[in-house]
Amino acid sequence: MDGEFVRSSDAKVSVLSHALHYGTGVFEGIRAYAHSENVYIFRLKEHIERLKNSAKICYVDLKNSVDDLCSTTVELIARNEMRCQTYIRPIVFKGIGGIDLNPVKVPTHVAICLFKFESYFEKSGLDTCVSSWRRISDVSTPPMAKACGHYLNSAIAKAEACLNGYDEAILLDSNGLVSEGTGENIFIVKDGKLVTPPPTASILNGITRDTVIKLASEMHVQVVERNIARAELYTCDEAFFTGTAVEVMPILTIDKRQIGDGEMGVLTGRIKAFFSEVTSGNVEKYSSWLTPVYATLVKEARSDPAIATLSS
Ligand code: PMP
Repeated sequence: MDGEFVRSSDAKVSVLSHALHYGTGVFEGIRAYAHSENVYIFRLKEHIERLKNSAKICYVDLKNSVDDLCSTTVELIARNEMRCQTYIRPIVFKGIGGIDLNPVKVPTHVAICLFKFESYFEKSGLDTCVSSWRRISDVSTPPMAKACGHYLNSAIAKAEACLNGYDEAILLDSNGLVSEGTGENIFIVKDGKLVTPPPTASILNGITRDTVIKLASEMHVQVVERNIARAELYTCDEAFFTGTAVEVMPILTIDKRQIGDGEMGVLTGRIKAFFSEVTSGNVEKYSSWLTPVYATLVKEARSDPAIATLSS
């Protein structure tokens, strides 16, 4: 936190933090996978680049470079001796700044947190609803930024969905077109093609979404980025969410309409399996998406004996 490694119990913030009152912060959610006697961070650079872009959009001055934040994340996992599936949460937020809404002169804090993390949902397929809330729109706050304040929109949609007995909500954009889940992008399958809303449908440009688009093309499956009407959700052949937390997660029902035969679709299953092969390091072509924690340290250890002890 703010350039030092501290215990989470010592990572304290003021109750007067601007971010707490006004949502003036940006964050990321990143996964690290444990296998082959190492821990691999998935698409670390892309996540940190998105963090930098979110900060820029929201006037949050993040001085640390992408390389600096990436290497600190690697070191943090090693210092904690994590050898398990891990969730990484970098957050850059505005501290004590009085009641003035202008965040520009308010001091910025940077923290990276870690915790052991397996799965976001306990189920292997989801019952969903279309939310009565609309996804935030670019005319008020930019959905492309992963900003703290934006998640009130997700939180109330999620709460409403869960209180009504669903696992997850699907939000429409301000034009009534399909946007995304509360913390996931959405894909539907129609006539063998994957269809997903474009970045202009108020989505967060998901890194898992991008991964699935690339893997689908590798599988010779056509992907179409286009607007999706609400009723298309009810009549699609398959549907699934993508996201760092949920990975590839089948949608079984939407507003009580069964999707396909009510089980994970065939194409969804193939994409989920390929995604898992990639994150498990079994696909050479995509090995550059995986940053090894301990091997990196062994390499660096030659010039830094303090780090060398961490990798042993
Ligand atoms: N949309 C929202 C609102 C999200 O919070 C997330 C999770 N970061 C996603 C989509 C999926 O993005 P990613 O695949 O990069 O995790």
